[in-house]
Order: sequence, then structure tokens, then C-alpha cells
Amino acid sequence: MELEERARDSADNCIACTSCVAVCPVTKANPDYRGPKLVGPAHNRMHFSDESDYEDSLKLCSNCKNCDITCPNGVSVATLNMLERAKYYKAHPEKHTQADQMLSHNFQMADMLKSIPFGRTCANIGMSIGEAMGMMGAMGIAPQRKSPRFATKYFREMYKEIKQPEGLTKEVLFFPGCFIDVNDPEVGVAFVKVMNANGYKVLMDDRFKCCGSPLVVGGYLDEARSHADNNVAIINEYAAKNIPVIACCTSCSLMLKAEYTELFAQEEMAQAAKNVYDAFEFLTILAEKGELKKVHVSSDKKFIYHAPCHLRAQGMGMPAVDLLKEIGVNIDSADAGCCGMSGSYGFHKENYETSMKIGSELFDKINASGAHKVVCDCGTCREQIKHGTNAKTTHPIQVLAKAYEQ
Ligand code: SF4
Ligand code: SF4
Repeated sequence: MELEERARDSADNCIACTSCVAVCPVTKANPDYRGPKLVGPAHNRMHFSDESDYEDSLKLCSNCKNCDITCPNGVSVATLNMLERAKYYKAHPEKHTQADQMLSHNFQMADMLKSIPFGRTCANIGMSIGEAMGMMGAMGIAPQRKSPRFATKYFREMYKEIKQPEGLTKEVLFFPGCFIDVNDPEVGVAFVKVMNANGYKVLMDDRFKCCGSPLVVGGYLDEARSHADNNVAIINEYAAKNIPVIACCTSCSLMLKAEYTELFAQEEMAQAAKNVYDAFEFLTILAEKGELKKVHVSSDKKFIYHAPCHLRAQGMGMPAVDLLKEIGVNIDSADAGCCGMSGSYGFHKENYETSMKIGSELFDKINASGAHKVVCDCGTCREQIKHGTNAKTTHPIQVLAKAYEQ
């Protein structure tokens, strides 16, 4: 298979039904965006006649994938957009902004800070000062936002100190992803607790790199390809040993399970995808086999759940809600579409207004729900929810880990 072959070919399946336009949150929120049908398949079918041809509003696409979820004819609209964006930036690297560079390469910053004494504490203080003085806007970051802080100990470091029970015979390999690793390591700790309680030892492999999702949306496709090749080789190595790979972040799991293959069309990527699971997808399989640890929650504290777009794009319903309901957790889905954050999209200064407009339905539902916490599998969705509502948020694996503690 040639690079880009699959997604590019899918443009010819477009029957111009406009279903994608009806569900695109950016089209609804921002009249400057010309919509998925035109920006994705229509422009790809025209096969731009000259290198300088570029649809400027393409930069407004958030890669949320709602178009792909809805398209009745299997057009990979979001991927067409990302491939076109990458082509443009390859020809015009000077058009990348400082914000593109920073938001797509947070993993580099995180690694660098780890090697400097007090690096993370100093970076967090620097962010607080920068935000208080309104300096983030000068770098292209929305000044209204509070950037996620670096954890003083990353999950990869915490993992080495976790004492897993002796004698566990089954194993899974955890793909922590950047957000859980460097910003929210307690999610990883909860994952280890849950898997241990179910008889699995959790392995880590330090060779894993960022899944590459922030690189793709930033138009750094060659770098994303090198991350994909690295990660796919590791996943296939564990597949050969019958050890499944599990991610707790739905953008990471979507990338490993579907986007690598869509973007780069390599057989080994399709092969690796079969060995990757979202955490609650895996736990649901255990439950169906009667192998999930049984527990019943007695508290009637109310939770509201937000389904990330990148979970819905995986076409497996809402396994976290189903499983948590099953054990007695009082939880309902907000059913309010996209939160508007889409990874790093809402952090860009120029996308802030669109991002908040998209999230408004979700914010209203959360505010009216009376729930004590919002449950969501995606770290940056949780950031958006906190910003838009001041609500407390948690990952569903943390709710399950707490239930196991009772
Ligand atoms: S939903 Fe699919 S077929 Fe319909 S206009 Fe969009 S891309 Fe074309
Ligand atoms: S990925 Fe999201 S923002 Fe981009 S065209 Fe599709 S629905 Fe619209």
C-alpha cells in the first residue's frame, strides 16, 4: 500500500449528502469554516492544480472526527483534512506558529523538564506567572486558559515505585500517553490498581513515544510517522507474546487503533491495531467472560459522563458508563456532543471562541445536572469541562478503582 492511498481514495466515495456538514461542530460555531464536505472530499477530488492552492479555512478543522462518524459512505474526511494540512506545512514550514510548535511538542518539553533539577516546579511557576501577567496570548495560546501543570512525578516514575502483587500470571502493557504520564499520573495509578484487582500485572515499556495525535493536528506528519513506526513495532512485539496493549486516553487509543492505518496505510499498523484496547473496552470483554472482579457501589452520589468524540469514533458505545452503571454507580451520559477542546485545538488563541461556543451545550447540561463530578476518559476534555463549568472531573478508571477500595 502506498502512503495516503486509502484515505485519499475515500474522497471519491463522497455522494455530497451533507450529513457531515450537519454534525460538524466547527461549521455550526464558526461561519468562517467552509465545512467538511467542501474542505475534505470536494477539494481532494479536485486535486489542487498547483502547489499554492490551499483552502485557508482548513486550519479551523479540529480533527474531532464527527464527520467520519456520520458519513454513510466511509469517507475519511478528517484524515483527508489532516493530510492536506500536512502537505501545506511541508511546503510552507515557515507558516507554523510558536503555538503550533509548543502544543504539538509538549512531550519534548516534558522530557527536558524531567532532566533538570526542579525543572517541572519552575515550569509550573513560570506558567502561573505568564498567565497572571497575560503573556500567553503573545505566544498564540488562549490567555483565558489555564494550561495543565506538569506533575512533580510523572507516571513513568511513579510506576517504578508501585508494588504490584506477587504471583499475577496475566499481563497487559500500558500505553500511558502524554497527558496521563506528565499531567495526570493518578489515572495511571488507578489503572494499575484496577488491573491488579482483576489478576493482571501491568507492564510499561519506556520505548513508547507520544502517540503522535498532537503532531498530526499541528501538521507535523513526518514526525508523527516516526512515532507511529516506533510504537507499532513495540505493539507487534507484545502481540507476538499475546500481551494486549491498553490505553486509558481515547485519543491515544484511536490513534493506535485506527488513525495510524488511515494516515499511513501500512499493513503492520493494521496488524498492531488488533492488539490495542481502550481500558473500558478491555474491562467489558473481561465482564462478558465473567472474569471481571465483582463489586457493588452503595453510594448514591450522582455522576455525569461526557463521551469524548474520539471514543465515539471507535464505534463501541460507552463501555465506561455501561460498566459503572452495572456495578451500581449513579451515572448518566450528558449526550451533548463535542466539548470543543479537541486535544490542543481549544488552546490556540484563534480557536478559543469557537471552542467555547461548541462546548456550551455540554456546559449547560453539566451545570443543570446537579452531579458531584463529571466523568470523562479524555484528559483535555476534562480540562475544557473544568474551564467551562468549574466542575470537578475524574477518569472512569478512578471511579472503578475507588469502588474496588470499598
Ligand atoms: S457525509 Fe460523507 S458522503 Fe456525505 S457529504 Fe460528507 S463526506 Fe460526502
Ligand atoms: S473533523 Fe470535526 S471539525 Fe473537522 S470537518 Fe470533521 S466534524 Fe468538522
